[in-house]
Amino acid sequence: LMYQTPVSSKPRYVRVNTLKMDVESAIQELGKATTVMKDDLVPGLLVSPTGTDLHDHPLVINGSVFLQGKASSMVAVALCPKPGWKVLDACAAPGNKTAHLASLMRGEGKIIACELHKERVKVLEASIRKSGAHNVDIIHGDFLELDTMDPQFSKVRAILLDPSCSGSGISAERLDNLLPSYSQDNDTDAANSQRVKKLAAFQRKALAHALSFPAVERIVYSTCSIHQTENEDVIKSVLPLAASLNFELATPFPQWPRRGLPVFEGSEHLLRTDPTEDTEGFFIALFLRKQPKKRILR
Ligand code: SAM
Repeated sequence: LMYQTPVSSKPRYVRVNTLKMDVESAIQELGKATTVMKDDLVPGLLVSPTGTDLHDHPLVINGSVFLQGKASSMVAVALCPKPGWKVLDACAAPGNKTAHLASLMRGEGKIIACELHKERVKVLEASIRKSGAHNVDIIHGDFLELDTMDPQFSKVRAILLDPSCSGSGISAERLDNLLPSYSQDNDTDAANSQRVKKLAAFQRKALAHALSFPAVERIVYSTCSIHQTENEDVIKSVLPLAASLNFELATPFPQWPRRGLPVFEGSEHLLRTDPTEDTEGFFIALFLRKQPKKRILR
């Protein structure tokens, strides 16, 4: 991958798991090991300007904080689930965003976390156990096969869809650590573009499926890809379906300067992060369902 920058030059982000620890206590504890500051955008996110390795820190080991990048931490915040809601995390493992949702919901309500691959379900279970969240139900299965009419989904108000993607926004070094299988697949440009096309086909299907849940009001679609094919093009392809179901694009983090590539009208709602400027290349889209206008009774 082309976007490698030395890891040590990058700020380290730490997300406080407010189910287990408050932000001020985390700052105080981590401050003994390194310099920490609050991120200016994401609540509960701390940033350490040094290359300090916190992997073995007791707060990381016991799940009081999660080592999670800034862009990744923006995704659940963009969804903005309220405590007490029912929320579906469509492609959940390893569970960083599931744990973040639980923290934002203060452990109240229900999260259904779906994951296709058995080995990754185990990782998901471990993350959730570590997070201390008690309101997560795991479904080991294919999100595309979930029956939207099943009563267990009839009250799902928000869906986080973070599907498999090419990972082209993440440095090769980090990908190697995260997902060893990714690095085996860099044979040729043609093979790569075929792979991205296949991923995009899945991403379009998954997003269309998310839009079809009967009570869903908020949907966030995110990738750690920099490819238009997996980002703006996926969003554009579902716009007619979205409009027919009364959804419109909304603007996550309006103060954020980097928006979607200008390839369709409305793409300024979309959010991009830059792999070098922002440490990782991410993409976030937010759909909101317009509430039917209240009829005036005469
Ligand atoms: N949201 C996760 C986090 O923040 O920790 C990362 C999700 S990762 C980008 C995508 C996940 O979706 C992978 O674990 C993959 O196994 C899973 N997945 C792929 N296809 C799926 C499907 N059809 N249904 C459910 N999960 C799927």
